[in-house]
Amino acid sequence: MTGAFFGPTDPPQRLLMGPGPINVYPRVLRAMSMDMLGQFDPEMTAYMNETMALYRQVFMTDNRRTFLIDGTARAGIEAALVSLVEPGTRILIVRAGRFGLLLSEIAGRIGADIRTIDLEWGEVASLEQIEAAIKEHRPRVFACIHGDTSTTMAQPLEGVGALCRKYDVLSYVDATATLGGNPVDVDGWGIDVVSAGLQKCMGGPPGSAPITISEQAAEFIFSRRHVEQGIRVAGTQDGQGVRIGSNYFDLAMVMDYWSEKRLNHHTEATTMLYGARECARIMLEEGLETRFDRHRRAGAAVTAGLRAMGLRVFGHDAYRMANVTGVWIPDRVDGEAVRLRMREDFEIEIGTAFGPLIGKIWRIGAMGYNAMKHKVLITLGALEVVLAGQGYPMPRGEAVDAALMAWDAGAADETIRK
Ligand SMILES: *Cc1c(COP(=O)(O)O)cnc(C)c1O
Repeated sequence: MTGAFFGPTDPPQRLLMGPGPINVYPRVLRAMSMDMLGQFDPEMTAYMNETMALYRQVFMTDNRRTFLIDGTARAGIEAALVSLVEPGTRILIVRAGRFGLLLSEIAGRIGADIRTIDLEWGEVASLEQIEAAIKEHRPRVFACIHGDTSTTMAQPLEGVGALCRKYDVLSYVDATATLGGNPVDVDGWGIDVVSAGLQKCMGGPPGSAPITISEQAAEFIFSRRHVEQGIRVAGTQDGQGVRIGSNYFDLAMVMDYWSEKRLNHHTEATTMLYGARECARIMLEEGLETRFDRHRRAGAAVTAGLRAMGLRVFGHDAYRMANVTGVWIPDRVDGEAVRLRMREDFEIEIGTAFGPLIGKIWRIGAMGYNAMKHKVLITLGALEVVLAGQGYPMPRGEAVDAALMAWDAGAADETIRK
């Protein structure tokens, strides 16, 4: 074995204007450098309780069971699905992008009976479509993505919870991309389980997945506790009453750990807890409405700037998330060469795409700590220079002007509203 030794961990300061991760609020990084506490130290359990109270506000919910799953956003998705879905459980999933496909991939591993609403990337499901599919398939669980970063579209969720309740269906939503930048109105929508991550609009690092669980869903999950693997509970249907197929993601155990019982499960990732707590504090200090407005303005400015360059923005204006904008790569422009020049000349990262959109669109994010006027303007200015360097013909300087106007028009609207 050779004695390999490397330099210090000292990455360059890139401006991350892609679909995530993004630059982290300095206050969050500072909170994450604080010292450890013992798991049952009263200071630690107080932080845990405060974090739950903060995330209830972030998720706009009264759900008692609102806490963190340790792991990236996918850990929240997996915990929700493995705890709600048993082998053979019928689940209806909306698939309109990469993350909808991820839901069915995870449900497939659990052995679920999967039914889908398959849409073209960039489309969203209507309430009528969802109701028709629920009537046809009679699922136990409905699952969808709120904002799918792969397409930049946000699925409207108004009325979805009520619809699910009407047909006795438990609902799950992945709000990773939207939480912290777009309203995620858990109680207003009546969704049973919602999970997210920190590395998008919350302005934190990847590694913690806030989750919120309704009483009804918690009751169902607790009913699966203590059931031996493969042994059916008396009175349940085939495939039901099976023990949750994961220890780490067993939400019944994790809920007990975060409850006053404090039943030991994993060791709460102390540093991530500090970071998640600070992310929520920053958001609530700013105020939810101000926060959403800032992201709306950032999205409007990006869109206006791209259009002023003569570029075509991806998807429907009506359903676009505020925080990530897709844009068609123009003919005869090499998308990867543009991303390289953006990174090498300007230290700015913009996103590539997945699946059917790979090589066709770029994705430009402006979220959390990066949903700021100067960062949006700098990114658009750099993109103008890089595109011109690629021989793309366009009027120079107009994108930044247009973006500035769109940002400030947002501010003017706000003055009128007040
Ligand atoms: C970014 C994103 C994720 C990311 O999951 P990680 O495990 O944190 O990489 C999940 N879902 C959606 C909708 C996302 O936008």
